[in-house]
Amino acid sequence: MAVLTHPEYDNHELVAYHHDPKSGLRAIIAVHSTTLGKGLGGCRMWPYASEDEALTDVLRLSRGMTYKAALAGLPQGGGKSVILGDPRKDKTPEMMRAMGRFVDTLGGRYVVAEDSGTSVPDIKLMAEHTRHVGGLTDAKAAAEGRTGDPSPATAYGTFVGIQACVKWRLRRTGLDGLKVAIQGAGNVGYRLAKHLHEAGAKLWVTDLHAPAVERCVKEFGATAVGMDEIFALPVDVFAPCALGAIINDATLPQIKAPIVAGAANNQLAGKRHGQALAERGVLYAPDYVINAGGIIEIFYEESGSYDAHKVREHLERIGKTLTTVFKRAEQDQRPTGEIADRMAEEIFRK
Ligand code: NAD
Repeated sequence: MAVLTHPEYDNHELVAYHHDPKSGLRAIIAVHSTTLGKGLGGCRMWPYASEDEALTDVLRLSRGMTYKAALAGLPQGGGKSVILGDPRKDKTPEMMRAMGRFVDTLGGRYVVAEDSGTSVPDIKLMAEHTRHVGGLTDAKAAAEGRTGDPSPATAYGTFVGIQACVKWRLRRTGLDGLKVAIQGAGNVGYRLAKHLHEAGAKLWVTDLHAPAVERCVKEFGATAVGMDEIFALPVDVFAPCALGAIINDATLPQIKAPIVAGAANNQLAGKRHGQALAERGVLYAPDYVINAGGIIEIFYEESGSYDAHKVREHLERIGKTLTTVFKRAEQDQRPTGEIADRMAEEIFRK
């Protein structure tokens, strides 16, 4: 399988493969850019159908991290890793330790954190073999109730982003009665649902994992819907919070919501889908702008001088950044994703 000619290869600085037969670990690390700082990004574990699918994911995700850090105003680069396997069935402590050893071989060019399919205890196992980990907390943090899980910050940032979208596209403040469809009620989706529910929004929720939906029905009065039904609901906001490439040729014509704004990475299957959303009058919140809360949180954790007030202020800037993207997109008559890319490149290519 070719890497340098892969359609998702975008001058990534480094792509490394590793197989550890003893633990069964099969993983890929990609570092897209270290121009602004070390390549920080989560480690995703997923039962990829093929090695090519895993490579595609890691190339796209790591590139997204560079753009995300730049637009979030952080002195950081972009990297990501993927483990091929089912986190519910295949994950073992030995495999996580082997992943830590793999991360360590890159000497700090890549800094690992948690992502879909991995959690803080997994990162702690990796940390037994490398110091290049993010999203881990010390005793002081634990005493202050911080666990190192970036999901609460990601969910809050996404919530702030949805507020900015609603203000821009629907010309209203306040979310009371706003109809939101959430795809994926995991670590981020569940917390986003909580914020939205508390702000008075009405929710429709779907998930591959039935108990995740049941929890939202029970706690937030959400309406449970099938996985294929979520796209076509006549709601105000469609919030993808599961996996990538879910705005594609099959789903795009179904979307009735005037706003697509959610936490999932790489929501658009291709750039043309961003163009198509704009042509249909759908406001798309570029994924890496709206879901930057997690890396903002990790940055402050790592800085050694965590200040909850500063973090919240930084998270709230996500709304302002999105509004700038929307203004420029309107002025230039270009899709919001293209404008966000341009703004990020103006920062990290300077
Ligand atoms: P998670 O694994 O906790 O939750 C994802 C949920 O989506 C799971 O409950 C899963 O069952 C469900 N799901 C998977 N495929 C689905 C499908 N086809 N239809 C409906 N549901 C489906 O992951 P998370 O941490 O909540 O992250 C969600 C998304 O947000 C991911 O794309 C992740 O990369 C992105 N993200 C997460 C963070 C973070 O801080 N955790 C930060 C930035 C971006």
